[in-house]
Amino acid sequence: MTPSPLGLYLHIPFCRQRCDFCSFYLEIHRESRAEAFVRSLRHEIELSAQQHVTTNRPIQSVYFGGGTPTVLATTQLVAILSEIRTHLTLAADCEITIEAHPSTISEQDLVQLLQAGVTRLSFGAESMEDGDLDRIGRPGSVHETVGAMTRSRAAGFTNINLDLMYGLPDQSLEGWRRTLAHCLTLKPTHLSCYALTVEEDTKLASNIERRLSPAPDEGLQIEMDEAAQGILSDAGYERYEVSNYAQPGYACRHNLLYWTNGEYLGLGPSAQSYLNGIRFGNIADLAAYDTSLTANRLPIESRTRLSEEEQLRDAVIFGLRLIRGIPSHHLHQHAANYGHAAVTAQLLAQQLIEEHGERSRLSARGRLQADTIAGQLY
Ligand code: SF4
Repeated sequence: MTPSPLGLYLHIPFCRQRCDFCSFYLEIHRESRAEAFVRSLRHEIELSAQQHVTTNRPIQSVYFGGGTPTVLATTQLVAILSEIRTHLTLAADCEITIEAHPSTISEQDLVQLLQAGVTRLSFGAESMEDGDLDRIGRPGSVHETVGAMTRSRAAGFTNINLDLMYGLPDQSLEGWRRTLAHCLTLKPTHLSCYALTVEEDTKLASNIERRLSPAPDEGLQIEMDEAAQGILSDAGYERYEVSNYAQPGYACRHNLLYWTNGEYLGLGPSAQSYLNGIRFGNIADLAAYDTSLTANRLPIESRTRLSEEEQLRDAVIFGLRLIRGIPSHHLHQHAANYGHAAVTAQLLAQQLIEEHGERSRLSARGRLQADTIAGQLY
């Protein structure tokens, strides 16, 4: 029997500064901290390979996320990849993605990453209007994003994602359309379009509370989502998940693992894993993470074994986000397991979930309320 695919996520917890809207676990980058972290991460790779019984399972996708992975020196990123290859088995066609901030990477770095086997880049562009970037405290400029795309292509990368956000403070529908149009001239293979959400304890939340910044307008965000759907599908991009669009054949294999309830090992502080029906997570504290690994202990702080019903629940909730949806009988089985029959019937009657033959998925309106619907089905 072919072993089921496995993904590997590496959380690089450093950025040069924190953007106003960001609530991820991260630290401000310092050389000495980064060196200690890379030592710990390499040790975690080795220990995990010994203890998680993954050695014989081919890893089909590796994803460096964060944080900003490219604040590490390229030699450090290459050393981490080499450690992975020493202890784990990568599939021959393994997708290897690195998230990058456009201003943190030179053409020489890019050539080295390509030679080390990186197959996919993901740039956090956020907007193609400098005023938008200023208003969300996002360092960098549109000019840098354009330069990063040019350098990536010159280095030989062909598979490049741009992350965008919409519903930014004072961003107009026209401004969003301009951002999309500008992105299309750069010909990314993949675009992620996220509605801005205001997370607690962020500078943005405090700015909104103090009326220094407007709160996102939900109605406008819906119009922006519809604009993205129209503009990107006209340009040949297929929407395959609530926030994700790809040219044919370029859907992100790693993220698809999450939405199909596939298995993945997450390494680095705060990284989450799902293996053999168990969800487990690392400690979200860099010093404690380093201490644990120095003592030869995996830095896992929480572990939950999911029942079959819970595994189906997660498969339904994540899978509904996919445009291809899930088998309808999974939706109804989950509704029966959790006493959600009435809620499910209502979501179908309101056409927030739609059934097409034997598959069910969020409708176009449902996609705009994906998180609320997930909460109702949990
Ligand atoms: S670059 Fe990304 S991870 Fe870093 S602070 Fe900004 S949004 Fe957060």
